[in-house]
Amino acid sequence: MKELILIKNGELALKGLNRSSFESVMAKNIKRRLSDLGKIEIKCQQSTMTVEPVDDNYDMEEAIKRLSMVFGIAGFQRAAAVEKDMEVILKTAPVYLKNQMEGIKTFKVEAKRSDKKFPLKSPEISRDVGEVLLRAFPHLKVDVHNPDVTVTVEIRDKLAFIRGDQIKGAGGMPVSTGGKAAVLISGGIDSPVAAWMMAKRGVVLDAVHFASPPFTSPQSEQKVHDLLGQVARYSGSIALYTVPFTEIQQQIRANCPEELFTLIMRRFMMRISCRIAAKNGCGALITGESIGQVASQTMPALACTDEVADMPVFRPLIAMDKEEIISISRKIETFDISILPYEDCCTVFTPKHPRTRPKPEMLREAEKALDVEALVNEAVDNTRYEIIGQTR
Ligand code: ATP
Ligand code: MG
Repeated sequence: MKELILIKNGELALKGLNRSSFESVMAKNIKRRLSDLGKIEIKCQQSTMTVEPVDDNYDMEEAIKRLSMVFGIAGFQRAAAVEKDMEVILKTAPVYLKNQMEGIKTFKVEAKRSDKKFPLKSPEISRDVGEVLLRAFPHLKVDVHNPDVTVTVEIRDKLAFIRGDQIKGAGGMPVSTGGKAAVLISGGIDSPVAAWMMAKRGVVLDAVHFASPPFTSPQSEQKVHDLLGQVARYSGSIALYTVPFTEIQQQIRANCPEELFTLIMRRFMMRISCRIAAKNGCGALITGESIGQVASQTMPALACTDEVADMPVFRPLIAMDKEEIISISRKIETFDISILPYEDCCTVFTPKHPRTRPKPEMLREAEKALDVEALVNEAVDNTRYEIIGQTR
């Protein structure tokens, strides 16, 4: 008996003519994500993909764990692949499903026949497989309405597949079907979640981080690395650009009104990020902002930051409550890293009374005290680059 993994594509199925190219992107992503586990063959048929290990002793557990983080997969499961012969199916089912059936009380069997020439009809296949399972596991009962496990037998072109319940996949779209964008990443809770949400829509991620040594510490940069490492398990590798921000912050503090400090700083972040993003083929920026969360995230404040951005700024968390954001950050395992207490450059020199209803004219006026272009150029020129995570 061979064992393989059956993968059900998510939204992919809806994408008309693009479907086959989307499927091939997903197949490539899967291949890369599993590349160090050994040789596999990937095939695609009727919105189901099969991942088949070539060698024995393939680490299926690890493969399953990694596949749960591949976007574009709606559901997946290990399955036994056997000859399309009822005798073989009846012999294999109790042996293959043993572990799953021992811990449960009720089950049902569903059969699907894409090969209509198979001598038995679906209800007959279900009945016969159900019977052998009941005989092999006398503690079990059939419950067709609310079973603990649904066993599925699929009769395909060449083979029959036997499997238990499907595992829910990460959903979304395969990474790199949605273009490329640069996430402004801090060490906080929000920006890694925003990055993950965009990757889920198929977007390839670059990341820009502003560091203000010695006011921010090496630990706070390490934190950003660790956060991106967690996101990269889903998005694939992320190019991180670390921008030296100390000089700019000091210039703003020395020359601009205190109440506008944060917003001017955010406008610099936008200008610099747009430059870096454009240079690297990104079509948009991503931030972790959410309406009303802090003074710089009111609607007028966001309009002031957007004014200096020359590409779209995506804010996937804009309408989310902190609780909702935290629940995603726990799911993707960034929360515990985010709450480590290292300072971000945003918390250096925070004004006591920031403007919550600023006007762009005020900021343009205040920025006249600075050589904006020179400061931006210098920061971009001194940006450091590295790759986080191994594979896309
Ligand atoms: P987060 O939890 O992501 O830090 P936040 O609620 O603390 O967000 P701010 O500190 O105001 O909010 O930052 C808003 C957004 O600006 C962040 O979500 C992030 O996208 C970006 N940002 C903040 N600090 C930095 C930084 N040091 N480097 C890059 N981007 C940053
Ligand atoms: Mg922050």
